Amino acid sequence: MNIKEIIDKEPIGQEIEVKGWVRTFRSNRFIALNDGSTVKNLQVVVDFENESEETLKRITTGACLKVHGIVVESQGKGQTIELNNKAIEVLGDSHPEEYPLQPKKHSMEFLREIAHLRPRTQTFGAIFRLRHALQFAVHKYFNDNGFFMVHTPIVTGSDAEGAGEMFRVSTLDPSNPPKNEDGSINWKEDFFGKETNLTVSGQLEAELFALGLGKVYTFGPTFRAENSNTTRHLAEFWMIEPEVAFNDLFDNMDLAEDCLKYVIRYVMDNCVDDLNFLHERQIQDEKGLPEDKRSMPLMDKLKFVAENEFVRCSYTEAIDILRNSKPNKKKKFQYIIEEWGADLQSEHERYLVEKHFGKPVILYDYPASIKAFYMRLNEDGKTVRAMDILFPGIGEIVGGSQREERYDVLKQKVADFGIEEESLWWYLETRKFGTCVHSGFGLGFERLINFVSGMTNIRDVIPFPRTPKNAEF
Ligand code: ATP
Ligand code: MN
Repeated sequence: MNIKEIIDKEPIGQEIEVKGWVRTFRSNRFIALNDGSTVKNLQVVVDFENESEETLKRITTGACLKVHGIVVESQGKGQTIELNNKAIEVLGDSHPEEYPLQPKKHSMEFLREIAHLRPRTQTFGAIFRLRHALQFAVHKYFNDNGFFMVHTPIVTGSDAEGAGEMFRVSTLDPSNPPKNEDGSINWKEDFFGKETNLTVSGQLEAELFALGLGKVYTFGPTFRAENSNTTRHLAEFWMIEPEVAFNDLFDNMDLAEDCLKYVIRYVMDNCVDDLNFLHERQIQDEKGLPEDKRSMPLMDKLKFVAENEFVRCSYTEAIDILRNSKPNKKKKFQYIIEEWGADLQSEHERYLVEKHFGKPVILYDYPASIKAFYMRLNEDGKTVRAMDILFPGIGEIVGGSQREERYDVLKQKVADFGIEEESLWWYLETRKFGTCVHSGFGLGFERLINFVSGMTNIRDVIPFPRTPKNAEF
């Protein structure tokens, strides 16, 4: 049995063996043992008679133990059962003078510097169990709704996805690359015989499959070499991208809203202990703040999102709201909204969600000029069928659209965006052979986990964050 099963089943009187790591050892008598199966610790009450002085000395924070003992009703407060040891074996010492994790609160910044050890902390245990449950819920949601998962490629030869800067994939020797006569690099000599990059999105490939399998999704890593050092951006992150034939923009919104509510409800039902821990953690963290600076307690926030309709608001309406808003008039925004057509910054998105509507918001029908080439052009000729979902504390969590399905319009858009048609011939062909209305979106997995866990920095919800100048672990 692992510690979760022991705590759930309370096998009083039974003789058991557990293995785990020491969280704390109090009064030379009480060991809080954790094996990662739950946020809760098993209390081991040390019976001196059974242990040598030598063993007791080696029971320090971080040490790995095997404990053989009998489960009894707890004498103390804080737990209902505990383990009376018959024999403790130290499987791995932790060298207390060097072990950087002490039984006290460490800053998240410090824990990022010891990312190889942070999975042993309560907070990261909770976050990564939650991450697991969320990805499971995502797969379950799509599977139960008749979607097929497609593994879109990680190495891509199309440089036209347009979602951001890409990382080059090459086996050429950078100090001595083969050259063309004009001195430029001869990519024909490279591994794939052309320039290749790490994907920024699986969308274009997912579209090909939606136009054959109907309802598909991808859930894989994506890479962006943008130099944005924010709490919301990673250079390597995971994205969930459904793509559905015959869905228009409003079907797309319904799907995204339903999916988000489903996965949030799933973890509320299945990750109670971890969420309660993170909920308490947030309250403790924000204790020192004035009341109006504190965020909504985690569990209330999740319930609020799971139970309320998302607001739907067009870009044009949003611009009116922002233009007339206090922070705009008082020039409190860093970017003042003056005209229709302006790109919305995170500060504007958060104003709409947190101050104006107080709910998740789906913004739609954006100006064509600030969105990607593949989004369907509206009859007005200046807006496209795009949608972004904005969440409190997070800003954009989903970006999606109805795709341009008309061959001529798409071909023109490709040209207008200065994209070489040859690099997208296969994409354009789908609009020539049995084209149809279809839509999809990208949900940033780490932004979702940030929201659900109440963490404030995206680096703390991915096991090994990749950010500018940082790929240590
Ligand atoms: P942003 O404007 O926030 O930089 P984006 O518009 O570039 O995002 P999209 O290309 O629409 O993002 O990607 C779809 C989703 O992927 C976003 O809604 C977001 O949840 C997530 N996402 C995008 N870029 C990143 C990143 N660098 N790190 C983590 N998640 C990201
Ligand atoms: Mn976007």
